[in-house]
Amino acid sequence: MVIGWGLTLRALILILLPISAALGASPEYRAGTAVADITPESPIRLSGYGSRTKPSEGVLTRLHAKALAISRGKQERVVIVTTDLIGLPRSITDVVAARVLQQYGLERSALWFNSSHTHTGPYIKGNLPLLFQLSAEDQTAVDAYAGRLQAALTGVIGEALSAMQPASLGIAHGEANFAINRREAAGGTMKIGLNPAGPVDFDVPVLRVTGADGKTLAILFGYACHNTTLTGEFNVISGDYAGFAQEAIEKAAQAANPGAVAMFVMLCGADQNPNPRGTVELARRHGEALAAAVNRVLAGGMTPVKGRIRTAFRIVELEFRPNDRAGFEAIVNDPNPQVRTSARGLHAEAMLRAMDRGQTVRRYPYPVQAISFGGDFTIVTLGGEVLVDYALRLKRESPGRKLFFVAGYSNDVMAYIPTLRASKEGGYEVLDSMYYYGLPAPWADDTEERIIAAARDVLNRVR
Ligand SMILES: [Zn+2]
Repeated sequence: MVIGWGLTLRALILILLPISAALGASPEYRAGTAVADITPESPIRLSGYGSRTKPSEGVLTRLHAKALAISRGKQERVVIVTTDLIGLPRSITDVVAARVLQQYGLERSALWFNSSHTHTGPYIKGNLPLLFQLSAEDQTAVDAYAGRLQAALTGVIGEALSAMQPASLGIAHGEANFAINRREAAGGTMKIGLNPAGPVDFDVPVLRVTGADGKTLAILFGYACHNTTLTGEFNVISGDYAGFAQEAIEKAAQAANPGAVAMFVMLCGADQNPNPRGTVELARRHGEALAAAVNRVLAGGMTPVKGRIRTAFRIVELEFRPNDRAGFEAIVNDPNPQVRTSARGLHAEAMLRAMDRGQTVRRYPYPVQAISFGGDFTIVTLGGEVLVDYALRLKRESPGRKLFFVAGYSNDVMAYIPTLRASKEGGYEVLDSMYYYGLPAPWADDTEERIIAAARDVLNRVR
């Protein structure tokens, strides 16, 4: 008798489930989007290349901060913020996160900032502090922009939270192949060049957010490649290939889905350049290739996402290789004046000034975050310019997760993040870039293992 009832109930459930789905049972999530135009209002120094000497000359594509808020029930929330910027330092994200906690009660773990790493966007206060020396006038413009940016980011998060409506989520991934590994062996070290045999990650993860009326609200997509199609001679504001990709995806989507927002997420593309590069036409072509990859994914079947939203955020302390005052003094007192005025010389001076102020620069608080929907669609976010090997390793060592992806350039962009292998090889990402980032020395050899351990920890917390 008991068995009979059990069978009957199971049969009923099997019959009723498809019917309720067909009748359009209310979506599991709520979602809202908001967009702020963050294009500088007047000329400003552009970031990413130390070779530029004057403020920007015009605008090719406008820059945006975009927020996607997703909630489930009363307790579970997450807000994803993407920006067409070189990188947000924690001096900006910490301020915004504190305001958002106060105004909207959103916990730090449920807030994710990502930057596209465009090299034709404004210089951001606190990011790449020693890239070049700013004149007083340039500094005023940079300070004003930072204030405007903090207000815009806080505003866009609040707007997305208040725009939430019933929504469902779907995920899938495609592929684009214009990224190439740029760490090329040369004379016993590595130069920035082309390394066709080096590791790459062509994955294009896509998340579609759909309203209860079936219209697309947001398309979040990622790629692991520097936004450096446009080189240092180009002094006009743009989002590079990611800017063109977002424009193309929105244009295609908005015909049938008014207001649909496309959001680009920079993955672990620190050692990846677009290939070829150097002209606006190429930036447009790469953007259209990426948009085509996303649109192919949207035209195919997507896997529905269900279940709890869980988030975890932690700081892991990273250490630098040993460095001391005597080493910096030797550089500052070098008899060759060219050494003193080089990036290395300016860096040594800045380190001595920091030591004079009593700042110990021994460790760095590095952010690691996991965001999970139902346990089988999980995002890991890492701070800094993360080499592709981290994404490849975490994906390889975390089997069975649907559209699992790893984003770099998240929550704080403070340096390149090489693996142990890359650290031993040397090159720009390991050594020289630390001067521009104003950090005392290359990362210690245990950096990769500390970050991987922290990533495993946040992954376990969102299971
Ligand atoms: Zn970079």
